[in-house]
Amino acid sequence: MHIETLLVRSGVNRDPATGSITTPIYQASTFAHPRLGESTGYDYARTANPTRTALEDAITALEEGEVGAAFASGMAGVMAVLALFKNGDHLIVSEDLYGGTYRVLNDIFAEQGVEVTYVNTAHLDQVKAVLKQNTKALFIETPTNPMMHVTDLKGIIELAKESNLLTIVDNTFMSPYYQRPLSLGADIVIHSASKYIGGHNDVVAGLVVARCRELGEKIRFYQNAAGAILGPQDSWLLLRGIKTLALRMEKHNENALKIANWLTSHELVEKVYYPGLESHPGYHVMKQQAGGFGGMISFAVTDPQIVPVLLENIKVITFAESLGGVESLMTFPARQTHADIPEEIRNRVGVTNCLLRLSVGIEHAEDLIQDLKEAFDAYNK
Ligand SMILES: *Cc1c(COP(=O)(O)O)cnc(C)c1O
Repeated sequence: MHIETLLVRSGVNRDPATGSITTPIYQASTFAHPRLGESTGYDYARTANPTRTALEDAITALEEGEVGAAFASGMAGVMAVLALFKNGDHLIVSEDLYGGTYRVLNDIFAEQGVEVTYVNTAHLDQVKAVLKQNTKALFIETPTNPMMHVTDLKGIIELAKESNLLTIVDNTFMSPYYQRPLSLGADIVIHSASKYIGGHNDVVAGLVVARCRELGEKIRFYQNAAGAILGPQDSWLLLRGIKTLALRMEKHNENALKIANWLTSHELVEKVYYPGLESHPGYHVMKQQAGGFGGMISFAVTDPQIVPVLLENIKVITFAESLGGVESLMTFPARQTHADIPEEIRNRVGVTNCLLRLSVGIEHAEDLIQDLKEAFDAYNK
């Protein structure tokens, strides 16, 4: 079946009692047992709730995996995956990854003896160079947040398999509509479903899918044991969002390409990072491994003084953290999403005081471009 159909059919036909087209919100914490030793499949809702199960089944099918688990946030999902590792294990991680993931790796897991090396995973030789005896996994974002480095998934998964490492991909930026790493052999996919999967800036949630049952069951065990589950209402919101994912992603992609091209020719813009531009070093790899380029653009302005003027003068686009919703948002990574990363590292990887990140929504592209134009004009005045 095509993914557009799978998306729309998410959660459909799950309520034979009434025939409800949508999966109902089962606002229940516990479920009656038919008799001693029997269960309806649902006992206590930390372990499973039918609305959450419908969502978990949907994301598992979309990502072409075996087991899915829904969490209270993307970070709760990241924690569940990182809990697979213990004192003495070594991880290789994409260098400019999501700030929150960097924070748990450095402030929680490093304290517990999990070693981490950050490299630009776009360069496989750099990954090879930091492999160690105790390396257990690669943790990748592609494209990265916010520098948009593209990692060759096939190449890096091959390298991981040679060395018996797990490949974990944070697929938040692409969504399963554009990129399905498990089908290329990755072991685990993580989503901040607060972004494209939810898609409407109205829910915080995380999803994890494993390619193999054994690994998936470990994550399910942690989900039930630690308890950072997604509630039924939020699970329902994601099921609703998922139905339009294909339409939204196409529009995000179309708008982003127009805006990236427009930014490229603006005199106050030093550099545009968007993998859909043919000049982007990851363009050809993306073309092979993803169905599109997504809606995230980063760009560096020519002077740090431009940043506050732009943020104060945008009117259609909102100055706010987060991404992936229908509304366009602009973020200043150095002071927001990536503030926990030390300045010297930020500058080295390019998250400078001139860098802005744009989550392009599904408004009319001309209105977004006009908004940017007027904000830049305010600086020129
Ligand atoms: C937002 C985000 C996260 C964290 O997810 P939350 O839902 O905010 O907890 C992880 N990875 C990426 C790439 C993100 O954008």
